[in-house]
Amino acid sequence: MIRVDRKLLEEVASDEAFNAQACFNCGTCTALCPMGLEWLPRELFRYVLLGAAEKVSALTEAVFSCLLCRMCEAQCPRGVRITHNIRTLRGYLVKNEYRIR
Ligand code: SF4
Ligand code: SF4
Repeated sequence: MIRVDRKLLEEVASDEAFNAQACFNCGTCTALCPMGLEWLPRELFRYVLLGAAEKVSALTEAVFSCLLCRMCEAQCPRGVRITHNIRTLRGYLVKNEYRIR
């Protein structure tokens, strides 16, 4: 069962540049990632849009492993601001996973 976390949904809703909803799960980003971050960002974005905070937390290591190199973003056919979205999620995880303000 997935527990929906309102804090996660509010965090991304308050960020006007966060556009994970544009992702249509094509997999181009996964194929290009030099870090081999399988399913990041597309799996991550699905969980975020569902408010599935526990699933997002389980991907914390991958979120912080991302180099923010933008190789995926440059080829994304939907113009998803992948690195911006990942930065937003890092902020959320730092505040909510590590309780750092
Ligand atoms: S390349 Fe863009 S649209 Fe395709 S899965 Fe990745 S983020 Fe989604
Ligand atoms: S920005 Fe992150 S997810 Fe995208 S290709 Fe670079 S390391 Fe991979």
